[in-house]
Amino acid sequence: MPITAVILDWAGTAVDHGSLAPVRTLQKVFSMRGIAVSEEEARRDMGIPKRDHIRALLALKRGGPPAEADVDDLYAAFIPMQMACLEEYATVIPGVAEMAGRLRARGIKIGSTTGYTRPMLDVLLARAAAQGYTPDCALCPEDAGGGRPAPWMCYLSAIRLGTYPMHTMVKIGDTISDIEEGRNAGMWTVAVARTGNMIGLSETDFAALAPAAQVTLVQSARARLHDAGAEFVIDSAADFDPLVDEIEARLAKGLRP
Ligand SMILES: [Mg+2]
Repeated sequence: MPITAVILDWAGTAVDHGSLAPVRTLQKVFSMRGIAVSEEEARRDMGIPKRDHIRALLALKRGGPPAEADVDDLYAAFIPMQMACLEEYATVIPGVAEMAGRLRARGIKIGSTTGYTRPMLDVLLARAAAQGYTPDCALCPEDAGGGRPAPWMCYLSAIRLGTYPMHTMVKIGDTISDIEEGRNAGMWTVAVARTGNMIGLSETDFAALAPAAQVTLVQSARARLHDAGAEFVIDSAADFDPLVDEIEARLAKGLRP
């Protein structure tokens, strides 16, 4: 049974090596309100819709559920700040556009989902298209009535792409919420370790590390993504190709995600 569609996350998976844009913006917007947010805190719930992420972060810092007016206030400040810096973090991760092209040549559709809003996703779509990466479908939480960890964006992707059943589809992402989204949708889940939120470094900063430090970071990220339920963990979405045959072999044996 062939794989019909692969759905990629955006930041940390297809663009923005290290998923830096949302972390930097969340830290900035919280610090403007006098709340210091560590990198680790900003990354914990990465991938869920941005408004939910702000609410979760505020709850973490306050030690309890925040007033909705405070969430509104921070989210209103967050949107223009995120929009303003998004273009700087829209570089396609090396090899991802080529990988998508190879899948398409095999007849596999390319979908995409995100925790960003529609205007933010549109910025990434335009910048990625200029670099040769254009998925067949690109959905944000408001398109589907909710974001991760719910499976709605994946279900709507299946409808838009015309692909089924869900167990012939694969979700690739860099966060725990990506894995939850894929699992909740009944899809195979593939996590990316090196390029994403778990390590949180730009391509340049990662390359500058000593080889032993790189290995330690990747091993730790791989273990955490595997523990979160990913069926496969790879370094970058650019390395996905061999898993097509692997997953198709499992399907042929009657195995399911
Ligand atoms: Mg991501």
